[in-house]
Amino acid sequence: MLSRGCAIVQPGRSRKAGLDERAKIKDPMRHDLAEMELPELEQALEAMGHARFHGRQLFQWVHKRGVVDFADMTDLGRDLRSGLAASFRIVTPELVRKETSSDGTVKFLLRLEDGQLIESVFIPDTPANTFCLSTQVGCAMKCGFCLTGKMGIIRNLTAGEIAGQVRVLVRELHMLQARFNIVLMGMGEPLHNYDAVMKALRILADEHGLAVNPRRVTLSTVGVLPNLERLATEPLMPNLAISLHATTEEQRDLLVPINRKYGLKELLDACRRFPVKRRERITFEYVMLKDVNDSDEDARRLVRLLHGIKAKVNLLPLNEAAGIPYERPSDARVNRFASIVAERGVTVSVRKSRGRDIRAACGQLITESTRQQSPGQRLASLIATS
Ligand code: SF4
Repeated sequence: MLSRGCAIVQPGRSRKAGLDERAKIKDPMRHDLAEMELPELEQALEAMGHARFHGRQLFQWVHKRGVVDFADMTDLGRDLRSGLAASFRIVTPELVRKETSSDGTVKFLLRLEDGQLIESVFIPDTPANTFCLSTQVGCAMKCGFCLTGKMGIIRNLTAGEIAGQVRVLVRELHMLQARFNIVLMGMGEPLHNYDAVMKALRILADEHGLAVNPRRVTLSTVGVLPNLERLATEPLMPNLAISLHATTEEQRDLLVPINRKYGLKELLDACRRFPVKRRERITFEYVMLKDVNDSDEDARRLVRLLHGIKAKVNLLPLNEAAGIPYERPSDARVNRFASIVAERGVTVSVRKSRGRDIRAACGQLITESTRQQSPGQRLASLIATS
């Protein structure tokens, strides 16, 4: 959980629209090609009377080379290109704003086809370069320390929109040839949008596209248990991170409300059953909140809870933000907590604060600025900074 706490105020947008309704799609008659896995694309081309191998060429243009204009796909005949343009569109999130921190972290504000806003974050040298992606607009989980949780859920992202964030970051950061990791830790709960997330991972993993090895992908979840069990059976399985954040049922009921449905004990039992490969571990993320979950006893209880799990702990001192009713513990308290965990044989790391000068909790900048502004001012500021 590198930059959890994403929240973007979506002024004037209705939440009643339903999770998958996508208002204002520019041309719903033409299928979004960026949303299709390679076999789907090959079948679609075949059905149109074209050779299957053109599907692979198209997939490479879009995902491997980042080309989204059919006219630029020079190894396809002119007639084919115009036929494709009549049948398909290639939807890519639109870059609205990019902010670079003094530590190299870059936040991207992206506008989706229906006008909704999401954020993606580039975090350099962690130790690899990492892309933090959103999986939903808003989030239904309502974690008590998270700005996104306060938004509620607006809608799920499509697989094309999830994978499309990578295409935008690769293009903007000139990283077409570079290796990078992906963490699904931006806005949203990935296991609450299971099918689209898994489809996006298959699109990203395809050898004819960006070929992102699932071992370079980490999915972070608060523990939507039925879908965690499904994840355990996936052929393309990302690394798993559990947003734990508490060491008692009562504490977790308050901080991570889904715990009232799928409790801490059930979650940890599911983790014990989860197929973790040799030399790999499940990461347990623990946001540290002053005088709430940062005591010595919490540290000792955390170690006891993780007994029998191939686990490592990532401590995340809270990134304080307006609207979040918790404080960040002192560095001394964080270090003391970490040393208690480490002394008992559990690997532990403490997140470095990244991008604090651009508001590390993604979406925080927009949340803060939109609160005080009229819709006209918000629009003007977005135009001025885009
Ligand atoms: S799961 Fe919790 S921490 Fe993650 S985005 Fe949703 S509300 Fe925030």
